[in-house]
Amino acid sequence: MMYVSTRGGAERLAFDDVVLAGLARDGGLYMPEAWPRMSAADIRGFARLSYPQLAAEVLALFATPAIDRATLAQLCDDAYRDFAHPQVAPLVRLGDGDAWLLELFHGPTLAFKDYALQVLGRLFDLVLTRRGERVTIVGATSGDTGSAAIEACRDRDRIDIFILHPHGRVTDVQRRQMTTVAAANVHNVAIEGTFDDCQDLVKALFNDQPFRDRHQLAAVNSINWARIAAQIVYYVYAAVRLGAPDTGVSFAVPTGNFGNVFAAWAAKRMGLPIETLIVASNRNDILTRFFDSGEMAMGEVHATLSPSMDIQVSSNFERYLFELFARDGNRVAAAMAEFRATGRFQVTATEWQQARADFHAVRLDDSATLAVIGDIFARGGMTVDPHTAIGIAGARLASGERQTPVVAVATAHPAKFPDAVAAATGVSPALPPRLADLFTKPERYHILKNDLSSVEAHIDGILARKGESS
Ligand SMILES: *Cc1c(COP(=O)(O)O)cnc(C)c1O
Repeated sequence: MMYVSTRGGAERLAFDDVVLAGLARDGGLYMPEAWPRMSAADIRGFARLSYPQLAAEVLALFATPAIDRATLAQLCDDAYRDFAHPQVAPLVRLGDGDAWLLELFHGPTLAFKDYALQVLGRLFDLVLTRRGERVTIVGATSGDTGSAAIEACRDRDRIDIFILHPHGRVTDVQRRQMTTVAAANVHNVAIEGTFDDCQDLVKALFNDQPFRDRHQLAAVNSINWARIAAQIVYYVYAAVRLGAPDTGVSFAVPTGNFGNVFAAWAAKRMGLPIETLIVASNRNDILTRFFDSGEMAMGEVHATLSPSMDIQVSSNFERYLFELFARDGNRVAAAMAEFRATGRFQVTATEWQQARADFHAVRLDDSATLAVIGDIFARGGMTVDPHTAIGIAGARLASGERQTPVVAVATAHPAKFPDAVAAATGVSPALPPRLADLFTKPERYHILKNDLSSVEAHIDGILARKGESS
């Protein structure tokens, strides 16, 4: 499979180059040149496969011939070996209807991002070893990406990783999962700003060509296509367990950067019988407003109980826009330029109708989120995290209308957000044993201003000192 940029102005690349490139040189995101198809027979055959086996099958659709099947099978086996549940991504029944929770928090950092990043870290390693190269990963995190990326890259000697998080805007658990990792290649930076500021800084680092080349920058944010590819897997896995290809399935996905729900859309585009896709947002509702109006209009970022979705610019929406614009990269580039300059852009009435056919969008504020957490607990004693609760609210909306199963995607373990869960239920969920010493380990991080040259100087300095000592 070859890859093209959503903005039409970068060279076509093979999968291994896309893994390393992250953002395309024209500022766009890489997309497969054509969508691979999964036939009904393919999907039926998937029922026999374990999660890692299925992951290798799905990844092979995107990664071959750059990376062969046998290598992918080994890599996926290794990536999911330490997950805490034998099914990796188990489905749990929610109440008595045909409603389900897809638990994506059994990886090392307790959020769904582990499912893609454990693969991506190994893909980096594989490609870099083949080429005898090294990279500097820079990433922005609203809380969960950072720790998942750090766990995936720690102690890999061909990688240095710098993670920018918004100072004071992630939970103590989230921050400590990043800052207590004692590995010489892990560098945490707290930016005095919001997640969007961190994301803008990372984009600016990539757009500084000399800096990008000097340090061989690479990305782990969901702008990296390999992450989307690895996320497609659990939608297929869940749908097959609920009867696909013979039954349709709907998914409700708590959304920030639009990466996870875009992976669901991609699965549908490839032939998975998905009926409704529900985009569930918190008070930061730029996506809900887009689906309500056909206009993308940036607002202010509000801090909420679901901080991993406190975003007003959903990077991966550009991938969907590329499809909505019939893969016209010039139009995507123009829309993104307008968005940058004015904070808004519009799609045509026909495109808006298409978008509304593809997605249902809902929003939930903090008090409604607490009410859902409390209600789920009252009904069966289960605790869910605030992001998951927002997904459940979306699923409830859809399940009234459908005869087919609805799956809410559980994106984080409740113990990652203990304060919100305790406020709603009176019970503070315990961290799993493997994270029990999180609050006694020492932390390491630097606090920097929201300023590109300070961040560049910091990275230059650290890498120069490492270069001298090695
Ligand atoms: C990252 C994250 C999300 C949002 O996922 P996107 O792919 O950015 O839409 C939702 N919930 C949790 C717990 C997350 O960590």
